[in-house]
Amino acid sequence: MITRNSHSVQGVDRAWQRELAEAYRSPVELLTDLQLDPAEFGQGLEARRLFPMLVPKAFAAAMRPGDAQDPLLRQVLPVGDEFLVADGFGPDPIGEQDGPMPGLLHKYQSRVLLMLRTGCAVNCRYCFRRHFPYADHKVGAAELAQAHEYIASDTRINELLLSGGDPLMARDDHLAELVARFSDLPHLKRLRIHTRLPVVLPSRITDQLVSLLADAPWRVVMVLHINHPNELQPELVAGLARLKAAGVTLLNQAVLLKGVNDHADTLVALAEGLFDAGVLPYYLHLLDRVAGAAHFEVDEDRARALMAEQLQRLPGFLVPRLVREIAGEASKTPIDLKLV
Ligand SMILES: *Cc1c(COP(=O)(O)O)cnc(C)c1O
Ligand code: SF4
Repeated sequence: MITRNSHSVQGVDRAWQRELAEAYRSPVELLTDLQLDPAEFGQGLEARRLFPMLVPKAFAAAMRPGDAQDPLLRQVLPVGDEFLVADGFGPDPIGEQDGPMPGLLHKYQSRVLLMLRTGCAVNCRYCFRRHFPYADHKVGAAELAQAHEYIASDTRINELLLSGGDPLMARDDHLAELVARFSDLPHLKRLRIHTRLPVVLPSRITDQLVSLLADAPWRVVMVLHINHPNELQPELVAGLARLKAAGVTLLNQAVLLKGVNDHADTLVALAEGLFDAGVLPYYLHLLDRVAGAAHFEVDEDRARALMAEQLQRLPGFLVPRLVREIAGEASKTPIDLKLV
């Protein structure tokens, strides 16, 4: 007899975990499969020593073969520019490395962020956590108990955010445990999951995950991290439809990245594509100034001009808020759109 036990759950988890195990870790292999000549990229590929390359095959499948400037490839391929030292770019740009306890960040009054898992299914070269000491932030049973106690003691907290790494790196049975663990807190109203996993590994949207979120005792919000319309692949869009049907509110945050999405046409196509997939644009983030990512920075004036064009071309509800994260501020900082 087949029951809904941990074996069947693990069986489903195994599909995306296998895909993750098969992800590209070698730039030469990725470039070769994309019909590009690794020799043309020279020593730049050695930037993988600064931050390993990790690219699931499902994400690579959305890249254009033969295009060295492909906007998805640029997000994940190690390049020589990462060795450049730039003023104002450091290892911990948003002062994140201390919280009330390991794995828990409480910067904003009403919401607390739990760093559920250490690691991601993709290594984005612009990642603000590329230098983050994940090893110090493993969240196990003891940390969950501590986090529960912390949230229980502060009734101003009404939203639990799961982040990481990527929180969906956790298996469905672990997520189920977490939901059960926190479901007795009366002041928690929302569960919010920040994730890029469905984008790079759409098989992660398992039936178990969908029903787990449907049955959770709170409103559930999923904030996807999609930077470019080409990331909206059919398998992802189908998965998003299942999440939406389960009652999950779908939002997107993107990072404004030079050479990836710093054109109005791209941002408009992203907003339109997101809406078609049932997702509302939420934030457009200015780059966090993390060492090794300076070549991705778009300056504020250019960002303002791109916002002005989106405001003209999109309905207001499809225009994301342009924000920057500034250490020590009580919230993300909205960027004034008026040119000074
Ligand atoms: C970004 C962030 C949040 C969420 O902020 P919103 O503006 O509500 O999206 C919460 N906690 C931390 C630590 C954050 O960095
Ligand atoms: S998905 Fe997010 S946390 Fe993970 S590597 Fe990319 S930017 Fe960093």
